[in-house]
Amino acid sequence: MDFNFTPDQLALKKMAQDVAAKEITPYALEMDHKGEIKPDLIKKLDEAGLINLVVPEEYDGPGLDALSIALIYEELGKACAGVATTIAANALASYPVILMGNEEQKKHFFEVINSGKLAAFALTEPGAGSDAGAVATTANKDGDHYLLNGTKCFITNGGMADIYVIFANTRKSAGIRGLTAFMVDRNTPGFSVGKEEDKMGIRASNTCELILDNVRVPETNRLGREGEGFKIAMKTLDAARPLVGAVSVGIAQAAFETAVKYSKERVQFGKPIASFQLVQAMIADMAMSIESARLLVYRACWLKDAGLPFAKEAAMAKCYASDAAMQVTTNAVQILGGYGYIKEYPAEKYMRDAKIMQIYEGTNQIQRLVIANQILY
Ligand SMILES: Cc1cc2nc3c(=O)[nH]c(=O)nc-3n(C[C@H](O)[C@H](O)[C@H](O)COP(=O)(O)OP(=O)(O)OC[C@H]3O[C@@H](n4cnc5c(N)ncnc54)[C@H](O)[C@@H]3O)c2cc1C
Repeated sequence: MDFNFTPDQLALKKMAQDVAAKEITPYALEMDHKGEIKPDLIKKLDEAGLINLVVPEEYDGPGLDALSIALIYEELGKACAGVATTIAANALASYPVILMGNEEQKKHFFEVINSGKLAAFALTEPGAGSDAGAVATTANKDGDHYLLNGTKCFITNGGMADIYVIFANTRKSAGIRGLTAFMVDRNTPGFSVGKEEDKMGIRASNTCELILDNVRVPETNRLGREGEGFKIAMKTLDAARPLVGAVSVGIAQAAFETAVKYSKERVQFGKPIASFQLVQAMIADMAMSIESARLLVYRACWLKDAGLPFAKEAAMAKCYASDAAMQVTTNAVQILGGYGYIKEYPAEKYMRDAKIMQIYEGTNQIQRLVIANQILY
């Protein structure tokens, strides 16, 4: 067993750290308060090569291994989970194309995102969250096209993307057996962006409703066969979950460092609060949670990179790391006392950002079902 990273992985981590320190961290609170990403940031992060990390080399991307991506996402999550989520949504939309796209589809999709444009993955609907089989958006055949009708909600990058992977049902009442994935360009007639959500956390990221009103999508934009959408969505989420874990570790690490620094500076009863054993216990627990979460994330990535089964470990990494982030950020607020609760300081943002990690890309209840299913059946 080797706990060392390769020189390339260390260089990527350092590069992400440097870019984040210069371009993201100084603006994180401002973006959170405004509820939007800084207008020029996507371009800067794209120029730094930090956006399309999963794009294969044959399509002019870096084709990075999962572990390298996790190291980068941890740094991005540490700087601002809203920005990390924006970038991660591009990866989420890329996986279905990597998994099932044909040559033409890959060429088109990666050309769009390699030109600095954003992508979005649209599965969730008002009536279909954890239960993807309840997707009510329909895709009815019309010659060599499909007509897509329905509404998607809570879509990250929904209002900012130029290309979307949208899941719709090609067989009425067939549930998950009818789910089918399509690549949809933003300028397709009938496609529009609905309301933008005002969120508790990850406020730099954009979350929107998508409205599909007779959106005419060519058959050539269908990813895989009709009915393969559920498999594509699940495989995509398997690949993406360790990365939600990595962002969670980054949030937790940032909150931890804030709390440790503060505990050494804040004096009460004539001593730094770090000298009180009840504060020390919180710090020790936070450190243990972060370290175990990080190891689960790295191991899930390692399994994926080795071509071994990793679905159970991916769910464990996402679930454990996001629970850890919630616990660590809550303790960080506690250590900062009243200042932890005030928006001028970063601790409360970490706590708000951590919460979504337990909800999106499959809630942590669903992760526990995935883990138990893998163990039992
Ligand atoms: C900020 C944000 C960004 C998002 N980005 C995207 C995106 O880019 N693309 C996309 O497609 N979706 C996205 N989502 C949607 C997200 O993945 C869903 O919100 C999530 O899967 C949960 O679905 P739901 O909200 O409908 O909750 P529900 O499924 O209604 O769940 C409600 C509660 O019931 C529990 N529950 C449900 N079923 C079970 C069960 N069988 N056993 C035990 N407990 C259960 C859940 O764990 C949860 O606690 C985003 C959501 C948010 C808030």
